[in-house]
Amino acid sequence: MKLTFPHMGNTYITVKALLDDLGADYVIPPFNIREALETGTRFAPEMACLPLKINLGNFIRAYEKGADTVLITGGCGPCRFGYYCEMHREILRDIGYPMDVITLEWPDKGLKEFLDRVRKIAGSLNICKILKAAKNATDVAIKVDELERLCFYLRPREKKAGTVDKIYKHFRAGVLQVKGSRNIRRLIRETFETLQSIEVDENARPLKVGIVGEIYTTIDSQTSFNIQERLGAMGVEVHRYVTVSGWIVEHMIKKALHLPRDIRYAKAAAPYLGAMIGGHAQETIGNTVLYANAGYDGVIQIYPLTCMPEIVAESILPAIERDLGMPVLTLIIDEMTGEAGYMTRLEAFIDLLQKRREAREFERKGALPWNRCRFGEH
Ligand code: SF4
Repeated sequence: MKLTFPHMGNTYITVKALLDDLGADYVIPPFNIREALETGTRFAPEMACLPLKINLGNFIRAYEKGADTVLITGGCGPCRFGYYCEMHREILRDIGYPMDVITLEWPDKGLKEFLDRVRKIAGSLNICKILKAAKNATDVAIKVDELERLCFYLRPREKKAGTVDKIYKHFRAGVLQVKGSRNIRRLIRETFETLQSIEVDENARPLKVGIVGEIYTTIDSQTSFNIQERLGAMGVEVHRYVTVSGWIVEHMIKKALHLPRDIRYAKAAAPYLGAMIGGHAQETIGNTVLYANAGYDGVIQIYPLTCMPEIVAESILPAIERDLGMPVLTLIIDEMTGEAGYMTRLEAFIDLLQKRREAREFERKGALPWNRCRFGEH
């Protein structure tokens, strides 16, 4: 059995750590998301979600490199994610790529069914080794997210433009050259040290923008035209609550162990959206409120065209803008999205946030910029 899995940002690092430790044979699909989207779009239903099309493209490319089994996470609930697994299986079979699909979700039938699925991947490994590999992979996911968060912080503060991107890119490529969670964690530690040693402007006060929306398009940089990196280069510090490690810990581990989940976002969302409606819509609403309360300058919502939960969230966001004075920009992505138009909207939004901050500062000092110069004065 030769496994493969779909790309979603840095997920490949966590899955690689897990599969290396389990001793599984696998193929990482090519990293070119645009090409995967083009391939997937040819075979997926037109109105299918964008991530499904990209995943499909990933699987086809991996099949061509020898993979025969797909490893994906599943879900349940009101949005289409719940039947992705079956859709992938059927589409792949129909178009002549008969791959097996293993879903790594917490099944309703509990631990036994989950372990049966893991054993399919791990073969004869004993349960202790499987649990150790899962623990190490979770640790890798947490550390990679911390590393990304550090990059978000440093980008708008770096003295030499492009330094953070160069180190981060080197790390992402370096992961492919090492094997096992132990070596990946060593690489993460070294990258942390390198990042912490770069020269930064301690006095910088960058704009702060929260990223909300559908998990795939917010986490996968390539899909959203590297918006988070670009914002950093524009001098904006970004933050995103939704992460891969958050998903593993909150949706898989805590659910499996019946531990209380972090529901701050749900409490914050309650006045606007009191129920989970699928995808990350409730997180989008709740996190926008949390960003407003934390004094962020703005929020950007990103989601794929036809994403049902995020369409609902988008219709609620104007109420938060009005109630809490939080500017929100919504960016919708599909296979036809042009990069130039997308970036123009982003730049205009950042200009607006900058002017808004300046106006507030003048207001605090008792003079508005537009009435500072009186008639006849310059
Ligand atoms: S969250 Fe949106 S994009 Fe993701 S599966 Fe559900 S409907 Fe599709």
